[in-house]
Amino acid sequence: MVSQEDVFKKLIAHSKEYGFVFPSSEIYDGLAAVYDYGQNGVELKNNIKRYWWDSMTLLHENVVGIDAAIFMHPTTWKASGHVDAFNDPLIDNRDSKKRYRADVLIEDLMSKYDEKIAREVEKAAKRFGETFDAALFRTTSPRVVEYAAKRDAIHTRFSKAMHDNDLVELRQIILDYEVVCPVSGTKNWTDVRQFNLMFATEIGSTADGATKIYLRPETAQGIFVNFLNVQKTGRMKIPFGIAQIGKAFRNEIVARQFIFRMREFEQMEMQFFVRPGEEMRWFDHWKNFRMRWHKTLGLGDDKYRFHDHDKLAHYANAATDIEFEMPFGFREVEGIHSRTDFDLQQHATFSGKNIRYFDHELNESYVPYVIETSIGVDRMFLSVLAAAYTEESLEGGDSRVVLRFPEALAPVKACVMPLVKKDGLPEKAREIMNSLKFGFKCVYDEKDSVGKRYRRQDAVGTPFCITVDYQTMEDESVTLRYRDSMQQERIPIAQLFAVIDDAVNFKKLFKHLM
Ligand code: ATP
Repeated sequence: MVSQEDVFKKLIAHSKEYGFVFPSSEIYDGLAAVYDYGQNGVELKNNIKRYWWDSMTLLHENVVGIDAAIFMHPTTWKASGHVDAFNDPLIDNRDSKKRYRADVLIEDLMSKYDEKIAREVEKAAKRFGETFDAALFRTTSPRVVEYAAKRDAIHTRFSKAMHDNDLVELRQIILDYEVVCPVSGTKNWTDVRQFNLMFATEIGSTADGATKIYLRPETAQGIFVNFLNVQKTGRMKIPFGIAQIGKAFRNEIVARQFIFRMREFEQMEMQFFVRPGEEMRWFDHWKNFRMRWHKTLGLGDDKYRFHDHDKLAHYANAATDIEFEMPFGFREVEGIHSRTDFDLQQHATFSGKNIRYFDHELNESYVPYVIETSIGVDRMFLSVLAAAYTEESLEGGDSRVVLRFPEALAPVKACVMPLVKKDGLPEKAREIMNSLKFGFKCVYDEKDSVGKRYRRQDAVGTPFCITVDYQTMEDESVTLRYRDSMQQERIPIAQLFAVIDDAVNFKKLFKHLM
């Protein structure tokens, strides 16, 4: 059996080989946790962004977009709490000199008990066959009950320590449960310290006059500081939302798992402003809409789950994550938070400006409450890539790697190929390509056998291949080959645009969403 770890390694190698993701500045041996998107990666990324942007701003007439600067006045980050509280607890192993997030070490420890429980359940299911009652087994198997109790005990201590910001207790949990460094195998741990994740730089030319500023660690604050600008100039009425896509920067302590945790990444965030007291209704609304947005792509409904937070950030009164089953387990792709009026209140206090909304229906003014949906483009990219990556054995001992992207997200929609490089076939193929390129990203390929060309397109997830042959010259028809089924059919050139458009445009997805 191929392990998930092997699949993940192959996925990373494949995405480099086929121009999706490269390590940043690779000729200088790369830069940790920073990546560049290649020629196919950027198309996939743009399609993901378009799916998100249009689903927010086209489908909701009360959601508008902005594009705020990455640099912001430094007081922004004082007001938002990032200067004082945007920290991760770090711990070093003295022998390996490796640095870890203390909370992640403890979460991994709890996952080990979860895995042990899952293995017991799986074994028992095999033993008992169809009559097996998993829920009953979980409450009666002494071993499972013991594992669950241990896990819960760690969880209780961990939640309290995180809530109380108790770094000594975090270290104590690591010591008590004899967590070892995966590299050195020892328990020789330092104290736990807080580490601020914001990158700082200076603005201004002279050393004296320069001011310390930060690269934004989230895009949300650009929306909050523009609340009044957008509300007034757009004559927006509550409830309404402001959407933004842009880069964010975090000096992550442990950057692992490819593009899952990067130091420079991109977010798609929407802040939805509502009447105080109505936030829970809107929280549920956006929670459901966002899950539908994910599932509509058809990557598999069982790959998603909600994970409600039991430890809420200081500003939130409800929070949930949408998790996706990555090759290394279920992980957060998106966060949905009910942020109360915290951010607008803070900016009002720190700026001295009156940030309120006058509600004509209620005839009163208030500071709106906020529901936030926040998704990482890169994590979304990874989830799409991981779900699409398929290795297939074919008849005759052959095999192929195919990226089964949802058609609307595929980087290239169609490849046009002449059967041979002569007798006017290339010219005919070019003619077809020219008629399609106004609507879709197409490529032209005349090298190697048709079979090889099909494999190349499968490997980047192109849904359609169009082959021009001698019959084309007689009757204006071509062979259309489908990526997933590999079936081929003969269709008139005149129908190509409509057939491809029907499969790849976003309309079908959007209709499903509404
Ligand atoms: P995590 O707990 O994984 O660090 P977070 O809860 O800090 O994530 P948020 O602050 O809620 O993340 O950010 C919203 C979204 O931004 C996340 O759901 C994720 O998709 C994305 N994101 C956050 N940090 C990173 C990162 N370092 N690299 C890539 N994407 C990120």
